[in-house]
Amino acid sequence: MRASHSALLLLLAVPTLALCAGTADFSGMTADYDVDVCVLGGGPSGTAAAIAAARNGVDTLLVEQYGFLGGMGTAASVNVFMDYRFSGGIFREILHELDKLEARRGSVFDANIMRVALDNLVQDAGVKVLFHTRGVTCTIAPGRSWQGKQRQTISSLLIHNKSGLQKVRAKVFIDCTGDADLAAWAGAPFEIGRKEDGETQPMTMIFRMGGCTFKGGSIMKFPGMEDYWASYAFNPNPGEISLNMTRIQGYSGINGEDLTAATIEGRKAVMEAVEALRKNVPGFQDAYLLAMPAQIGVRETRRVMGATLLTGEQLINPGRIYSHRKDVVARNQYNVDIHDPKGTKAQIVRLKQPYEIPYRCLLPKGVDNLLIAGRPISADHVAHSSLRIQPTCYALGQAAGTAAALAVANETGPWEVGQPNDPTKGQALLRELQAVLIRQGQDLGATRARELGLYPEWRRWQLKYRLEAYPLKRAFKDVPDDHPAHEAVQALAGMGVLRGLSPDHYGADDPASIAVSAVVIGRCMAVLPSSRAPLYDKVPLPDRLKGKWWSSAIAECAAYGILDLNQLPGIEPEDYITEQDLRRYLERAFPQAAPLPPVPTELLKGDTVTRASLAYLAWAAARTWEP
Ligand SMILES: Cc1cc2nc3c(=O)[nH]c(=O)nc-3n(C[C@H](O)[C@H](O)[C@H](O)COP(=O)(O)OP(=O)(O)OC[C@H]3O[C@@H](n4cnc5c(N)ncnc54)[C@H](O)[C@@H]3O)c2cc1C
Repeated sequence: MRASHSALLLLLAVPTLALCAGTADFSGMTADYDVDVCVLGGGPSGTAAAIAAARNGVDTLLVEQYGFLGGMGTAASVNVFMDYRFSGGIFREILHELDKLEARRGSVFDANIMRVALDNLVQDAGVKVLFHTRGVTCTIAPGRSWQGKQRQTISSLLIHNKSGLQKVRAKVFIDCTGDADLAAWAGAPFEIGRKEDGETQPMTMIFRMGGCTFKGGSIMKFPGMEDYWASYAFNPNPGEISLNMTRIQGYSGINGEDLTAATIEGRKAVMEAVEALRKNVPGFQDAYLLAMPAQIGVRETRRVMGATLLTGEQLINPGRIYSHRKDVVARNQYNVDIHDPKGTKAQIVRLKQPYEIPYRCLLPKGVDNLLIAGRPISADHVAHSSLRIQPTCYALGQAAGTAAALAVANETGPWEVGQPNDPTKGQALLRELQAVLIRQGQDLGATRARELGLYPEWRRWQLKYRLEAYPLKRAFKDVPDDHPAHEAVQALAGMGVLRGLSPDHYGADDPASIAVSAVVIGRCMAVLPSSRAPLYDKVPLPDRLKGKWWSSAIAECAAYGILDLNQLPGIEPEDYITEQDLRRYLERAFPQAAPLPPVPTELLKGDTVTRASLAYLAWAAARTWEP
């Protein structure tokens, strides 16, 4: 018999030590770990929180129940990143780490190698990780009061592993369990499910198949598959596909018996889906079940009520009030995406603009030394369905970890860090928190960056990310997919460096002039501003170089010392550029870039530098540019 899943709307705080820590008395137990910051749960939010805290100079312990990090992304095989346009910082470093390990294909990653990528990053940051360890409860004591209201403080976290029951003391705890376990133990109020009946989004047992020759398209269109809802990802490994096809409804992700029943039902559903795919879908006939994940994917459980509440309405119709938050710590524009708790459909609302997540959503009501990050932050059911994606959870984790480090360094608590209406300490610390986040690559939006005087810094990161992640595909017939300059031309075109071109012709074999080279270099520099200032404010051009479409590019290259000033009188910009000059110009424009590679022989046309070679070398410099 499973325990009944009650339609809970609001569970109020139960701030008594006896209920929080059961009936046992742990006061006599000495602390096994005494740290500045303890992060419970090593999913997207917890991993980022721990890295951020450690990097910002505090002693950090990360406790994870499995033997690897990544949360749903690894444990439940959710190996796809949804919209990550607005997630920078640590999340981007994870993309780089995956690339180094050849474990990413666009937004899809290898869920096994992801474990290694995350190990590498937490170890580099100096985080102490405790695997195979579960948080089981906490003890609480009276904490600071805020504006006359008494809060609780978590005096210790009780954890359990093969060493037995152990005690962790920390100045600040961060709950990244995805289920707000620690916040609930500490007595913070929370809600579960949708307003009308408390039902949550269904769980899903994602599975991986190998030996697939399936080429893509809708799986549901094949006879015999009409009753399925199916989304899938082609994994980086050839012939391997991850499938999201099972919907296990009516169970609670925070109830032991429910989770057990859902897991068994999930595995049965996987076997049926595998059978149906093999029988009905071309490209799966010879495929086989490669893996079921360590746990069933849980989309939704508790949502903690915090200092403020992010609502679906604020995301869908932000108006002026909710467009910019003074205490923004993360941004996102992923859809409202609610998988029906009872039916087979999903309710999708596309958002017109990105929204900003306030720091106050990370502060659980009534608890002093606790931050919450990841999917259970203070939001309603609708807002939760959008912010729960992994990239945003990484961003929220980074914000929480940084705030915790700041609180420790200033001998204060997380609430004191981030009250935008506090005229004294809060404002200064909040500004510091946001400044650190922006400097460490997080996207808090142009408005806040400008207010903090960090717009150039913010812009530099965003452009770097843009260049790396979103090259726009252009159909140039003379630069097909297998052309050696294809990637370069696509990337530069997508960044707006190559403009005013015919939609299907780049002119790959045409010779590149000095003028065209100066324009390309100038635009690359505009997109990826160099950390150095120009040598000259304004360069007077000889009359014959004025008034042309390339004049300002020539002047800019001269101002940055890319073109010698004393070369200017003799320069004929329409002349073809030599490879030696092009290399010299690029090296001067991007002194921080890696050494330029040789041009592939297929791109060489005698001594002429073709526009394909120009793109190839310019991209080689720009892609390795470091801010
Ligand atoms: C089926 C499914 C499909 C999804 N699809 C996508 C998608 O395509 N793209 C996307 O970006 N997002 C997707 N998501 C959402 C996303 O995966 C999650 O919302 C996100 O991983 C939440 O991150 P988190 O850090 O808040 O929590 P989690 O990922 O849940 O991580 C929590 C971590 O805490 C650990 N933990 C929990 N309790 C304890 C405890 N008591 N003690 C110790 N450790 C504990 C867990 O083991 C886990 O590692 C999907 C989710 C599901 C379930």
